[in-house]
Amino acid sequence: MDSGVQNCDTSNGYVHLQNPHLKTMTSDFLYHFNLGTATHDLPAMFGDVKFVVVGGSATRMGKFARYIHQELGLSESEEPKDLADTDRYGMFKAGPVLSVSHGMGMPSMSIMLNELLKLLYHARCSNVVMFRMGTSGGLGLEPGTVVISKAAVDACFRPRYTQIVLGQEISRPTELDQGLVDELLHVAAQEEGLTAVAGNTMCANGFYEEQGRLDGAFCDYTEQDKLQYLQKGRDAGVRNLEMESLCFAALCKKAGVKAGVVCVTLVDRLRGDQVTTPHDTLKEWELRPQKLLAKFISSRLGIK
Ligand code: URA
Repeated sequence: MDSGVQNCDTSNGYVHLQNPHLKTMTSDFLYHFNLGTATHDLPAMFGDVKFVVVGGSATRMGKFARYIHQELGLSESEEPKDLADTDRYGMFKAGPVLSVSHGMGMPSMSIMLNELLKLLYHARCSNVVMFRMGTSGGLGLEPGTVVISKAAVDACFRPRYTQIVLGQEISRPTELDQGLVDELLHVAAQEEGLTAVAGNTMCANGFYEEQGRLDGAFCDYTEQDKLQYLQKGRDAGVRNLEMESLCFAALCKKAGVKAGVVCVTLVDRLRGDQVTTPHDTLKEWELRPQKLLAKFISSRLGIK
């Protein structure tokens, strides 16, 4: 069992953590997963991971793991189980694919992603590709359209993730890997019944006022203000709105991990705010990013 913390390795496709303090720690406990270098053999458990897919809910990520398990033709005895022994996040492994939930919003994403990147680092995973998949509001798109993000942008349409660290604002870039965008568009074009577009994804700190909705508990602006703002976003290349991509894009980029974001749109925000589509239709739409990523992963692995 590996009880120590490895040195940072910045070459050969390893996850690139930039924290000198990690080197001085004799062990590292990933509290929100209940996994640690002193208690688990992380290289044995996770060393073969090549694809990581993260999404909001633990139930959905468990289903995705079982789906990809089937698609990759993995043995029935390896049926994915929840490896994170906490009720904060779910973590399921299907062969080289790790499926992890991140909850809602950037604070939840940030906590999960710090520990997930450290897990990949301790496990000495190399050449990993990471994806966030999920749901979003669309801008001028037919609901059900899948958006492949070129960049995550903040609520002022800037490609940067701003954190307050020790009382100071720090900003990190949030452009996503353009090679992955093209590859995903190519895979999507071969999927019958799937419409996918590339565009910027606006990441907000909330679902209601922060996304210009008129139907929250509070609203101090007019419908015209809302539409002006959303149109400005559309003109700046924004095609969808959600709540996690900015943190995901920035932290993956900083760790030197190639990353993509694939979200289906549930509503056209230029036409309305409420998500009133029938439940069965929503369930089918929610599967679209899963199908696209399963096809991408199968094709990368040379399956089908
Ligand atoms: N998720 C969001 O953040 N916004 C939407 O409009 C739909 C899903």
